Amino acid sequence: MSQAVLILIKPDGLKKSLTGNILTRLSETKLEIVAAKMVRVSKELAEEHYKHLKDKPFFGEIIKYLQGELHDRKKVMALVYWGKDAIKKCRELAGATNPEEAESTSIRGSYGRITTTGVYENVIHVSSNEPEAEREIKLWFNPDEIIVDLYATKDLVLKEITNKVWR
Ligand code: UDP
Ligand code: MG
Repeated sequence: MSQAVLILIKPDGLKKSLTGNILTRLSETKLEIVAAKMVRVSKELAEEHYKHLKDKPFFGEIIKYLQGELHDRKKVMALVYWGKDAIKKCRELAGATNPEEAESTSIRGSYGRITTTGVYENVIHVSSNEPEAEREIKLWFNPDEIIVDLYATKDLVLKEITNKVWR
């Protein structure tokens, strides 16, 4: 059965110009990209994304990391990959959380590092299981930004909402 997974190319991956390399590595999975965008990450979004790590001593640092404050690159690239065993395939390619423990041929083993303050700068985020993937994809994307129907939706009629449009 097809499965979806959220991938984030983190600010260190963007700063090191690794987008192409990372997408090339991920293409080995033969999975389909069904959504992609650049995101300026607010503190609220970063904290919600990593809310399960709220009590960890490194929480404050990884929020700054995801927001781009450690790299002067206030953006991440968010993608949804879709296909058979998507989570397992992408996590395998990404490698272990700690880049020093990650297999040297994996994405994190190739491009990650540990900072002097102990943060694992591991260039990529990959959802860890199916419930987390669903939670994260719904956090980062609206239904109309994804080209397949992943999860149930409903119609919401909004009145007097101001949207920015091209002039
Ligand atoms: N992280 C860290 N030190 C740790 C554990 C995690 O700096 O001891 C960072 C690392 O960037 C990691 C992120 O926090 O990717 C989220 O941690 P998680 O345990 O969810 O690892 P992942 O699912 O990203 O492999
Ligand atoms: Mg995780």
